[in-house]
Amino acid sequence: MADAGYQRIATEEAFAPPELMALWRNMLETGTDLDPGFVSLVGFYARHGSERARAVSERLQDLGERRLADMDAAGIGRQIVSLTAPGTQVLDADQAVPMATLANDRLAEACRRHPDRLTGLTAIAPQDPAAAAEEIARGAGLGFKGVIINSHTHGEYLDNQKFWPILEAAEALDTPIYLHPTAPPRTMIEPLVEAGLDGAIYGFAVETGMHLLRMITAGVFDRFPRLRVVVGHLGEALPFWLYRLDYMHAASVRSGRYEAMRPIARTPSEYLRENVWVTTSGMAWPPAIMFCREVLGGDRVLYAMDYPYQYVPDEVSVQDDLPLDETAKKAFFQTNAERVFGL
Ligand code: CA
Repeated sequence: MADAGYQRIATEEAFAPPELMALWRNMLETGTDLDPGFVSLVGFYARHGSERARAVSERLQDLGERRLADMDAAGIGRQIVSLTAPGTQVLDADQAVPMATLANDRLAEACRRHPDRLTGLTAIAPQDPAAAAEEIARGAGLGFKGVIINSHTHGEYLDNQKFWPILEAAEALDTPIYLHPTAPPRTMIEPLVEAGLDGAIYGFAVETGMHLLRMITAGVFDRFPRLRVVVGHLGEALPFWLYRLDYMHAASVRSGRYEAMRPIARTPSEYLRENVWVTTSGMAWPPAIMFCREVLGGDRVLYAMDYPYQYVPDEVSVQDDLPLDETAKKAFFQTNAERVFGL
């Protein structure tokens, strides 16, 4: 691709170490009473015979030549790489903690080999919040520029105070948390999976949007005002809901309807404009991108591809052609990411 006048930094790009893929496959083969979201998501990508599943599974495990060749072919200068969903979050704590360490060591090694092409985010095992907080600090020492959390952990959410050591560590190190989707938990998935809608088509957005919204309405950002959260898929539909979120949140607080919904310092949309950044992973659709820029601000919207799940080089050209001036387009592809992740 010709020099565009900006570097394309893709901010939500996934990998999985072969050891984790093997552990997942073993769970699928020998586990009992498995989480239905794990069976649906990992059962497909790790074991299904389709061309799509095979291509994604192979690419996830490559942090070298194949990935770099794909980046070259699509004009991507740098990937911000993170452990793919469900990461370690479906494991028991005693397996999850060492697997997060292993994943981070592998990713750090790849980033050291290709410092001009790859930047990592720190994987953690939220099942052990104290160990996770330590791993966030270790990840910063390895040169990682944020933390990846693949949404819920065994059906629990980050507004739960047991996870707050994680948020405290991220805030103290001024490192953003990328809140990425995973399959909805057992308590939520049934009508979605029954219709084939539990995955990226819709269920991911419903569950992850709710996760971020729970954090906002529970007052997480009042407790951690400098916490920064990056969320993919153009904010998991929340930007489209800003008006209704603000109206109904105020109405619910006033009426005292819910014990869990107490007054917070600002409106939901204010937190979404001040603590949250969104990326375009899987959403190469100019009207929606321009809408997010309009309602959140041009400095809040970052480019992402969603490699290898949505490796479509033509989608890069679509976003090259966004109706933006040169400065705004450079911010979208490059300088917003440099600022948010401290590159
Ligand atoms: Ca993704």
